[in-house]
Amino acid sequence: MRVYNFSAGPATMPVEVLERAQSELLDWSGSGMSVMEMSHRSKEFVGIAEAAEARLRSLLGVPEDYAVLFLQGGATGQFAAVPLNLAGPGATAAYVSTGAWSRKAISEAEKYLEVRTVADEAPTNYSTVPAEGSLQVPGDAAYLHYTLNETIGGVEFPYVPDAGDVPLVTDASSTILSRPLDVSRYGVIYAGAQKNLGPAGLTLVIVRKDLLDRARQETPAVLDWTAMAGAGSMLNTPPTLAWYLVGLVLEWVEEQGGLPAMAVRNRDKADLLYRAIDGSGFYSSPVEASARSWMNVPFLVPDPALEKPFLEAAAEAGLSGLGGHRSVGGMRASLYNAMPIEGVQALVDLMTDFEKQNG
Ligand code: PMP
Repeated sequence: MRVYNFSAGPATMPVEVLERAQSELLDWSGSGMSVMEMSHRSKEFVGIAEAAEARLRSLLGVPEDYAVLFLQGGATGQFAAVPLNLAGPGATAAYVSTGAWSRKAISEAEKYLEVRTVADEAPTNYSTVPAEGSLQVPGDAAYLHYTLNETIGGVEFPYVPDAGDVPLVTDASSTILSRPLDVSRYGVIYAGAQKNLGPAGLTLVIVRKDLLDRARQETPAVLDWTAMAGAGSMLNTPPTLAWYLVGLVLEWVEEQGGLPAMAVRNRDKADLLYRAIDGSGFYSSPVEASARSWMNVPFLVPDPALEKPFLEAAAEAGLSGLGGHRSVGGMRASLYNAMPIEGVQALVDLMTDFEKQNG
């Protein structure tokens, strides 16, 4: 029996994708082998890779003047790749600090350049994003970096920051494909796959081509966007199985009606859960209403001593992965694309029962 899996990542995948992968596991399309046994240079795998890129470009509306890269090393690898590819030694870059993941991006960047933090939401305990139009980006910054959705804090930008002529870079790991995104506003978008795109092991990078050819000489080849773009992301062996599975997930998103349909589903799911939290007087949300994430919903019970019994009751009801991040505690429900509204309804029903028994 499959549970409703609310894990923040690796996370639930569409069951149709898992079944398709299962049916193709021993013999992919008459090739007589599994995708994981194929050479990445074979015409079969190159076809799989190109089809996935074409689907991603079409779903997200990626303009022609952007390269799409399928890399390894996670979003954490890109925390280093961004400064190495975009800024020479002695440069400065602007960062927005909205929580745990932006802070990690900042500490990695500090190894390579001078970071100017242009907004820091620490005074609200990272429950907000900066007001629209409030960012002062220095004109000499190599880029402005922000975290579109803070997976741990559950804080999401409801607008695209204006960086003027400075290239805008975003970590979209936990929100990519959850709703339409205007790629043309960005210089670089990167995301780990293990939330909305597929399994762990693959990192997506979308980079405007005029930002290539600037990498520092000492940039490791596997993090060098220009070298990777020139080699079709196959400078070395790519994560072939993950790439194939991402392709199947993209096909599934297409069948669901693409990103506009995903946005409707995801807004409905998030609304259902936030209404239950706000309407209860028992549960509470630590995030200001205007910055609440559709993807990661942290919530608190009135007494931390109730967390363990809540998680036990959830497990009993077939609901998994609801514990908050180990750094903050509380609860967190991740509502990625593959989580059906029935799963969110089951969570809301459990919350209502638990409040009756403990309120
Ligand atoms: N950024 C964000 C927003 C994340 O959610 C995560 C992972 N949860 C990371 C970066 C780090 O990603 P990875 O583990 O793939 O390096």
